[in-house]
Amino acid sequence: MTTNPGLCRRCASGRSIKSGRGSVFWRCAEHDRDPRMAKYPPLPVLRCPLFRPLEPAPEPG
Ligand code: SF4
Repeated sequence: MTTNPGLCRRCASGRSIKSGRGSVFWRCAEHDRDPRMAKYPPLPVLRCPLFRPLEPAPEPG
Protein backbone atom coordinates (compact mmCIF):
# COMPACT_ATOMS: atom_id res chain seq x y z
CA MET A 1 0.00 0.00 0.00
CA THR A 2 1.30 3.45 -0.86
CA THR A 3 1.31 5.97 1.93
CA ASN A 4 0.50 9.53 0.98
CA PRO A 5 2.69 11.70 3.21
CA GLY A 6 1.29 14.98 1.94
CA LEU A 7 3.72 17.87 2.45
CA CYS A 8 6.45 15.70 3.97
CA ARG A 9 7.28 14.22 0.55
CA ARG A 10 8.28 17.66 -0.75
CA CYS A 11 9.81 18.93 2.47
CA ALA A 12 13.54 19.24 3.08
CA SER A 13 13.00 17.70 6.52
CA GLY A 14 11.01 14.65 5.36
CA ARG A 15 12.75 11.25 5.51
CA SER A 16 11.00 8.12 4.30
CA ILE A 17 11.74 4.92 6.18
CA LYS A 18 10.66 1.48 5.08
CA SER A 19 10.02 -1.09 7.79
CA GLY A 20 10.93 -4.74 7.50
CA ARG A 21 7.27 -5.45 6.77
CA GLY A 22 7.26 -3.03 3.87
CA SER A 23 5.33 -0.24 5.58
CA VAL A 24 6.59 3.26 4.85
CA PHE A 25 6.91 5.82 7.61
CA TRP A 26 7.88 9.44 7.24
CA ARG A 27 10.22 10.86 9.83
CA CYS A 28 10.39 14.57 10.47
CA ALA A 29 13.97 15.77 10.94
CA GLU A 30 12.65 18.97 12.55
CA HIS A 31 11.95 16.79 15.60
CA ASP A 32 15.71 16.66 16.25
CA ARG A 33 15.77 20.44 16.67
CA ASP A 34 12.34 20.91 18.18
CA PRO A 35 10.94 17.97 20.18
CA ARG A 36 7.48 19.54 20.00
CA MET A 37 7.39 18.39 16.38
CA ALA A 38 6.19 14.80 16.04
CA LYS A 39 8.99 12.42 15.07
CA TYR A 40 6.53 10.45 12.95
CA PRO A 41 3.75 12.90 12.04
CA PRO A 42 0.28 11.54 11.31
CA LEU A 43 -0.09 11.32 7.56
CA PRO A 44 -0.95 12.92 5.32
CA VAL A 45 0.46 16.21 6.58
CA LEU A 46 -1.67 18.88 4.92
CA ARG A 47 -0.44 21.93 6.79
CA CYS A 48 2.83 22.47 8.57
CA PRO A 49 4.35 25.72 9.82
CA LEU A 50 7.87 24.35 9.35
CA PHE A 51 7.45 23.07 5.80
CA ARG A 52 10.49 23.94 3.68
CA PRO A 53 10.36 22.98 0.00
CA LEU A 54 13.12 20.73 -1.26
CA GLU A 55 15.76 22.57 -3.26
CA PRO A 56 15.22 22.06 -6.99
CA ALA A 57 17.91 20.00 -8.69
CA PRO A 58 20.58 22.20 -10.31
CA GLU A 59 20.34 22.70 -14.03
CA PRO A 60 22.86 20.57 -15.94
CA GLY A 61 25.73 22.45 -17.56
S1 SF4 B 1 8.54 19.94 8.83
FE1 SF4 B 1 6.36 19.44 8.51
S2 SF4 B 1 6.19 19.00 6.34
FE2 SF4 B 1 8.36 18.93 6.86
S3 SF4 B 1 8.80 16.77 7.32
FE3 SF4 B 1 8.27 17.76 9.25
S4 SF4 B 1 6.07 17.44 9.50
FE4 SF4 B 1 6.57 17.04 7.36
